[in-house]
Amino acid sequence: MSWRNWAGNQHTDPARTVLARDTDEVVGAVRAAARDGLRVKALGSGHSFTGIAVADGVALRPPSDPASVRVDGHRVSVPAGLTLRELNPLLWAHGLALPNLGDIDAQTVAGAISTGTHGTGAGYRGIAAQVRGLELVLADGSVLACSPEEYAELFSAARVGLGALGVLTNVTLATEPAFRLHAVETALPLARVLGELDELTAANEHFEFYWFPHTDIAATKRNNRTVADGPARGRVAEWVGDDLLGNGAFGLACRVGAAVPSLVPRINGLMAAQMAHAEYVDRSYRVFCSPRRVRFLEMEYAVPRAALPEALTGLRSVADRHARAVTFPVEVRVLGADDIPLSTASGRDSAYIAVHVFRGQPHAAYFGAVESVMTALGGRPHWGKMHTRTAATLGPGYPGFSDFVALRDRLDPEGRFRNAYLDRVLGVPATCASPT
Ligand SMILES: Cc1cc2nc3c(=O)[nH]c(=O)nc-3n(C[C@H](O)[C@H](O)[C@H](O)COP(=O)(O)OP(=O)(O)OC[C@H]3O[C@@H](n4cnc5c(N)ncnc54)[C@H](O)[C@@H]3O)c2cc1C
Repeated sequence: MSWRNWAGNQHTDPARTVLARDTDEVVGAVRAAARDGLRVKALGSGHSFTGIAVADGVALRPPSDPASVRVDGHRVSVPAGLTLRELNPLLWAHGLALPNLGDIDAQTVAGAISTGTHGTGAGYRGIAAQVRGLELVLADGSVLACSPEEYAELFSAARVGLGALGVLTNVTLATEPAFRLHAVETALPLARVLGELDELTAANEHFEFYWFPHTDIAATKRNNRTVADGPARGRVAEWVGDDLLGNGAFGLACRVGAAVPSLVPRINGLMAAQMAHAEYVDRSYRVFCSPRRVRFLEMEYAVPRAALPEALTGLRSVADRHARAVTFPVEVRVLGADDIPLSTASGRDSAYIAVHVFRGQPHAAYFGAVESVMTALGGRPHWGKMHTRTAATLGPGYPGFSDFVALRDRLDPEGRFRNAYLDRVLGVPATCASPT
């Protein structure tokens, strides 16, 4: 069965696709692949832009039945292939929620944690930081339950495991009591946002902004927990706020900009000028996540939080030179440090800068120039978003990188879970003769 990712820039025809309903079926699929000399790739929902999820041998769909979700106080054990879209309302029904989410909810739990998916909030961390236990099927077909108490090294690494250590079958997450968010969206001069960034990120639980290249306007979003009622999300909010990137008018603007690049500065100015004030209160997951109907390509880098002003200065000059046809805004978010070896926020408070182009537009020069700026500042690329880095250049940026690779080599000496992307970013296991 042919496979294609959401963005449409990755595709493959795996030797076979297996839908595993439970852990035993995952074990069976991994053992059968070994017998047949095939590699195995667990599939999420295909929302990575990189080739991280590309399967050449067995494409394995992990268990995803919502009926197998178990709630124990604030801990919730979920099948690895469950989507966040299914999980969030289910948690709400139990009076629970994840503390922080990214922009969309289409990802599977395993896919989201495996690439270090994150939202925003200086005092918050990515979704993988909520993991308290994991069940994994290893390359030899054995099943391990790991946690901070059992197989602690594997647990620590497998939270952001890139799909390289085994197939996750079950994930236990720490949640918090369900909460509502008060969202305020305002357009502000970019210079003011940059000048007040420390205050804005400290005073708001979840602060982010979008900057439209070729303008001086930043569309800011502040989400804070509230127990008060507030206005529901209205039509205006849907256009200028979270749903901007999923909006038909925006799609049209992208197409016009791609066809006539000289119009882009004016289009971006017009879009930025549409940024009205919007304010609403809703369930947390409905405020964090929104649909993305306009397809795009994306690169995102995490830099040390203190390097954000420099990163944005570099980005602005790159955008002036390379992004003449780019209608997509740049997204800027912040996150607290975590202790996960391959997390982009491992050991440091981080700022995230994401650049996008409308699907089909040339991206190499723009993304390449942005990547140079971010790499010079010690930037770490999102594992699921486009980048050109290799193990040799990534390794020095993560204190736990070589331990992660050594663990992978030990657990998967035959390279059962390899693919071309993992060979590039982790290297080929020493025991495997050739690249993929
Ligand atoms: C429109 C859009 C918006 C996005 N917004 C954000 C955002 O706000 N924040 C952010 O950080 N990222 C964001 N992303 C990136 C996205 O969250 C990640 O790429 C995520 O990994 C996608 O999850 P998935 O389920 O589609 O996994 P896939 O892309 O299908 O797979 C990703 C990796 O997970 C592995 N995997 C999947 N299941 C298992 C399993 N059971 N066991 C072991 N490994 C497994 C795969 O093998 C692969 O290595 C966005 C992407 C898109 C397209």
